[in-house]
Amino acid sequence: MDLQSYPIAEKWFSVTKVDDTTDMLLEPHVHVLEQANLFFVRGSDRDMMIDTGMGIVPIRPYVEPLTEKPFSEIVCVSTHTHIDHIGGVHEFDIRLVHPIEADEMAAPSGMNTIIRDEIDPKLVVLFEEAGYPPLDELLIDALPYAGYDPKSYSLTGAPATGILEEGDTVDLGDRQFSVLHVPGHSPGSIALFEEKTGILFAGDAIYDGPLIYDGPGMSVDEYVATMKKLQALDVSIVHGGHDPSFDKKRLDEIVEHYFRIWGV
Ligand SMILES: [Zn+2]
Ligand SMILES: [Zn+2]
Repeated sequence: MDLQSYPIAEKWFSVTKVDDTTDMLLEPHVHVLEQANLFFVRGSDRDMMIDTGMGIVPIRPYVEPLTEKPFSEIVCVSTHTHIDHIGGVHEFDIRLVHPIEADEMAAPSGMNTIIRDEIDPKLVVLFEEAGYPPLDELLIDALPYAGYDPKSYSLTGAPATGILEEGDTVDLGDRQFSVLHVPGHSPGSIALFEEKTGILFAGDAIYDGPLIYDGPGMSVDEYVATMKKLQALDVSIVHGGHDPSFDKKRLDEIVEHYFRIWGV
């Protein structure tokens, strides 16, 4: 690969204000397939980081300016343990995940490369058939710094310090997020729902782009139940694991679209 032809990124993460208490981080130079939405939510007593990206460079320097609290008290929630969601989890002291995926977070066994030819070809087909644009030689279109070697990439997991199951609450002081177990895309996927505001952080259970439901650890039967569960919520806005946020009407449209595909 000709690394000379890749530009050097000025900043690896972009940070966008979502609302007064929430910022979204994103890795613009990662292929859209693995470009996850990472949310930082400020609370009165503690802050919450939802997912942590690919782990190509540390996320912590981008998160520190967003909080005034001790970094050691930020609650890091992994919605699930795919490569694009747990890359920076090891940089946080409080790491929560669903028990079904705790082993995977401690020692990731799935995709662990940013080089196309090193990805399981079955996965590449799965991604392209789902509707994602073809993968280039690398899953990045710029280097994070001069001299970066894509071969050096490795997904570093970290053991959970606590678990989150259906019915648990992540309490930020003035804000409480209920944990929903939403399997289908992955066995231990969780979403966070704030009843007071109708805000849903959905992870990859639902987003406004090509959903992935046909790969290892995935289940359409479980996904159908998850979709019905999400449809029953009184949501005002859904912040998905990928793609722009959307409202309840769009949630219903997305669900109906996949129910047609799945013959539900
Ligand atoms: Zn994802
Ligand atoms: Zn995923």
